[in-house]
Amino acid sequence: MKTIDTLYIDGAYTAPHGSDMFDLHNPATGEVIGQVRLGDEVDARAAIAAAKRAFPSFSKSTKAQRVAWLSAMAAAIELRSEELNDAIVMEYGAPSARSAFMVGHAVSVLRDAARTLESYDFTRMIGTAAVTMEPLGVVGIITPWNSDAGFICGKLAMVIASGSTAVVKPSEMSALQTQVVIDALHDAGLPAGVWNVVNGLGATVGAELSINPDIAKISFTGSTVTGRAILRAAAETFKRVTLELGGKSPMVVLDDADFAEAMPFVLEAGFMNSGQACIAATRVLVPAERLIEFEQAIVRAAEGFPSGDPHDPQTVIGPMVSQKQWDRVQSYIIKGEAEGARLIVGGAGLPAGQDRGWFVRPTIFSDVRNDMTIARDEIFGPVLTLIPYGTEAEAITIANDTDYGLHAYVAGTDLDRARRVANQLVAGRVLINGAPMEPLAPFGGFKQSGIGREGGVFGLEAYLEPRAVMG
Ligand code: NAD
Repeated sequence: MKTIDTLYIDGAYTAPHGSDMFDLHNPATGEVIGQVRLGDEVDARAAIAAAKRAFPSFSKSTKAQRVAWLSAMAAAIELRSEELNDAIVMEYGAPSARSAFMVGHAVSVLRDAARTLESYDFTRMIGTAAVTMEPLGVVGIITPWNSDAGFICGKLAMVIASGSTAVVKPSEMSALQTQVVIDALHDAGLPAGVWNVVNGLGATVGAELSINPDIAKISFTGSTVTGRAILRAAAETFKRVTLELGGKSPMVVLDDADFAEAMPFVLEAGFMNSGQACIAATRVLVPAERLIEFEQAIVRAAEGFPSGDPHDPQTVIGPMVSQKQWDRVQSYIIKGEAEGARLIVGGAGLPAGQDRGWFVRPTIFSDVRNDMTIARDEIFGPVLTLIPYGTEAEAITIANDTDYGLHAYVAGTDLDRARRVANQLVAGRVLINGAPMEPLAPFGGFKQSGIGREGGVFGLEAYLEPRAVMG
């Protein structure tokens, strides 16, 4: 049992004003493994005040200083890789390959921000105007539980690069991982007050950040429902917002695709992060005339994606993060069957051999229509829907027929055709045939998947405001 009973405010570990305790669980067993003492609005206000005090001097720091700080932060996280990895597996249940990726990501987002900053020019002439890009002030960072360290580091990286200061409200369910990040970043030696962390609930600490007039911007990753609440609250003081929200991403399998070759791409994109990924490719659009062939291929391939003990190197899909998340996924599997979709892999209940923990059977439905609930709602678990289509034009129409627009995927043999299809998909990012991600490219969503972009120059400029001086 581990107890976390401090916040991080003004460069120091501080006891919270809030006194509520929140249980932390191991999702692989359901057991309570720790507790975190939650901060409240008073703590949030203290952290905001510290960040506000730090801003005037930090905003005048040089680019070289900030690049050095970002590099120090990356090195400090890297030094605690093992500790962070253990916390991710213990508290989140990520299988080992995934947790290693998550640790690496938390380091690389800081290095990527340093790279972006190094080559970014904060001044430019536009006609007779001298335009300077100015930092915003205090940024409120609110993150979800499905990649705690990566989101904290990624958002903080851009705040630091821009010359602003921050108050982070991490997911209350990720306190063990957050603590490792705090310990690491403390060692990186940034000036006091530049970054602060307040564990707490969304309704208290998160809400305070969203309404407090001293917060200039909210950078949020989480559900569309919460994003909407934050946007409403932030409107009162015209806060800038970056909202990275939910998704229901299409995987458009073209009729010239080699299924054997495409299958790892289809399943890795679909079952990514145990299905708890905003960019998971959960709507698989399959040419109707090859549906049976595709079903046979995916049923075989799904055997290579076992769900189980995250410590077992064979495991690809770990448990859901919480009982609530497990119940939610189960309810969608039951709903899918009730709506008439045809189950071809998995189904409701625990996987064979598991009698505890929040494990889900990797599940695939076929004969899904795009108007069924399981094709419309973000399930956030390893549940895929195969949706048959007739023509390429119909595939594109179905792919775009969603409230979301975060990500899309295309699988096909003719690359020119795949790119032509990709260019018609309404999504912030489109990945063709398992191409590697470009971390400096913009990341974010169309429609209800959010507002704004993260990553690279687009991400940095989301934390800057232009000022034009003439004469
Ligand atoms: P959530 O929206 O429930 O919570 C996210 C964060 O918001 C938590 O820290 C929570 O405490 C806080 N919060 C809750 N209510 C709040 C309020 N009223 N005001 C301010 N803050 C509040 O999301 P979750 O369940 O933690 O994460 C899963 C969701 O995140 C999924 O919908 C997923 O798609 C989304 N997500 C999006 C991306 C992306 O980049 N687009 C990435 C990962 C996850």
